[in-house]
Amino acid sequence: MDYLHELLALGVDGIILGLCLKEYLSYKKTLDVLKVAKQYPIDENLINTVKQSKDGKIGYGIIRGTVKPIGQPIQSIMSPSVTGVLQVVKLSEHRITRGFAGFWTEQRKLIHVSSNEVPFTISNGNVGVEIVDGLGAELLDLDVVYDNYEPSTLSFFDHIFGFFSGMRQRGLQTTEEVLRDGSFITAVGEIDLDGNSLRLQSSKTGPMLLTTATKNTLVKKLQEAKSSMMFKVIMCSTISAVLIGVIARKFYLKKKEERHQRSIQEALEHSRRARRARSRPTGISERDMCVVCVSNPKEVICLPCGHVCLCEDCALQIKDFCPICRAKIESKTAAFV
Ligand SMILES: [Zn+2]
Ligand SMILES: [Zn+2]
Repeated sequence: MDYLHELLALGVDGIILGLCLKEYLSYKKTLDVLKVAKQYPIDENLINTVKQSKDGKIGYGIIRGTVKPIGQPIQSIMSPSVTGVLQVVKLSEHRITRGFAGFWTEQRKLIHVSSNEVPFTISNGNVGVEIVDGLGAELLDLDVVYDNYEPSTLSFFDHIFGFFSGMRQRGLQTTEEVLRDGSFITAVGEIDLDGNSLRLQSSKTGPMLLTTATKNTLVKKLQEAKSSMMFKVIMCSTISAVLIGVIARKFYLKKKEERHQRSIQEALEHSRRARRARSRPTGISERDMCVVCVSNPKEVICLPCGHVCLCEDCALQIKDFCPICRAKIESKTAAFV
């Protein structure tokens, strides 16, 4: 096809556009609900506020306080002096792979993730709000307490193997992230009561967030992310529009060229017919006339049956069977009678 490349590019651009648009809408939705979400101080009144709210819960609220483990905190594996309530250890492999057109590109692949959590509250003085499923938060600001890169030592055999398999290991990276106890954070989500104690969990209204940023900073960051996503959406749409324009133009030019070719063909055919008509003898008997149009003389022989029965004009239309004996026509040629 003439515009295969353009169509492919349009498809890829369409996919990217879809992803950007989805991301943009998710930022917009979060921003809309976050802007109107109220911040509640953690104190004795909070229980009453929750009780008096619709359905006995605050659909999407913000609290700020200090992280406190309920019971024993988790001790960091790599930095034993650090304790926390959420812990994520990641092991990733850095490797180079031979990709498109034989180029080697560096990649990072997550091999293993292990996470751990203990129940904890966000507290102010004696009042605390338990955080349910903190690891499930969509935004989770954790401290990196350990980050180590270990380059691999490859043997001669590994190099040979890597050459043929198209993949070579570069090294392994281990990181450990922890939400430290005692850190001061902002939590956003649904606040309700479990018996007589407060808890915050994921909400249907908006995503659950656990972050060190304040509401204002968060709104600002989301606005920036939303704007940059909007820019990408505009870019992708522009590229799509240009590609559609290019395809439409090529299609139009192709059709125009086809029409032009057809009209030349028709004009040629017309002049050929006229020339033939001028050079034909007049006053021939009906016996010598073409059996189809009964006006021009017989000029063409059908093979292999050998019937001379068509004029040149009609021979152009009749391609399959001889009009006299219905035999299959394999070829036709000029007949001199
Ligand atoms: Zn004829
Ligand atoms: Zn025949």
